[in-house]
Amino acid sequence: MARIEMQKVAHSYLPKAQKEEEYALKRIELTWEDGGAYALLGPSGCGKTTMLNIISGLLKPSQGRVLFNGNDVTGMPPEKRNIAQVFQFPVLYDTMSVAENLAFPLRNRGEPADVIQRRVREVAEMLDLTAVLNKKAAGLSADAKQKISLGRGLVRNDVAAILFDEPLTVIDPHLKWHLRRKLKEIHERYKMTMIYVTHDQVEAMTFADKVVVMYEGEVVQIGTPEELYEQPQHKFVGYFIGSPGMNFLSCTVRGDVAHVNGASIALDRRAAEMARTAQGRLELGIRPMHLEVHNSAVAHGIPAAVRSVEDQGSWKIITLALNGQTIRARLPEARSAPQEKAWLRFPPEWTRLFADERLIG
Ligand code: ADP
Ligand code: MG
Repeated sequence: MARIEMQKVAHSYLPKAQKEEEYALKRIELTWEDGGAYALLGPSGCGKTTMLNIISGLLKPSQGRVLFNGNDVTGMPPEKRNIAQVFQFPVLYDTMSVAENLAFPLRNRGEPADVIQRRVREVAEMLDLTAVLNKKAAGLSADAKQKISLGRGLVRNDVAAILFDEPLTVIDPHLKWHLRRKLKEIHERYKMTMIYVTHDQVEAMTFADKVVVMYEGEVVQIGTPEELYEQPQHKFVGYFIGSPGMNFLSCTVRGDVAHVNGASIALDRRAAEMARTAQGRLELGIRPMHLEVHNSAVAHGIPAAVRSVEDQGSWKIITLALNGQTIRARLPEARSAPQEKAWLRFPPEWTRLFADERLIG
């Protein structure tokens, strides 16, 4: 197992990149702690696979260094790095049996036969592959093939880290949930460094102790699921995480008050103070569940027009227009929804300010 550091790493697929947008990864400064269960979360194209391939050595970064336990491995090929990588689609030998496929990474390392047999049996057990161990991989379903790929990633217990690149994409939804739980259990038992790539926030939040959020080639926040939810450091984290995402309203700040198209919203004093000297476009952010919705006028309530009420089982999502800007609120199912008009209050402790998409304070 290893502690993996990425120092000033940047990567462009172009030979002579100059402009920032020509880089798939920009200025990555990041440490993956030994034994951590990480999710690497971000939309398609933000650089997740590029990041994994730089860690495993399939790709040499254009700039910067990668260290394993303090040793520079930037120029080292994958086979020397001792990393297991599981890809989006099955990678296995069709003509071999399931057992031979699982044994392959161990045979390659010259492990003794009894060790191989024991590990293969353990991994098959973990992934419910015991019944098909002697079958040829070729005849199996897509689900089973991907489970074999996962097994090949998990079979060695001496790896520096296991990297999973959206490994459950081809798996059916029910089995997906089951396998994710399995991976988490395996992590809890063996405490190996795991990096699990996904573009699905629910998958990230249920698997990981720490989530690394990427956006356009940058890491915009690293935190526990709670931290990402309660303290988004970047606008992207605010709207990508949570359902629906955080509300953002353009505003100006005077004194301790934010002005949103003529409506006045009291702010936390410290955030307001910092906003007065912040550079860039100011926006106020609040989670739909933190917005107070009243069905009749209240002191300091800001009137808003109800556009729609959507029933989502345990919640109602209310979409409102506040002086021309759209805002969403989440109410418990049992609450009666306002009909045409509502009065909104923004609790200062949950009202955040962002300047050019970054959290202030
Ligand atoms: P993700 O895994 O988050 O979807 P990738 O790391 O695959 O993102 O891609 C990041 C960016 O780099 C994208 O703009 C993608 O088009 C580009 N890219 C990825 N692989 C290559 C490649 N082999 N050659 C050129 N551009 C690439
Ligand atoms: Mg990818």
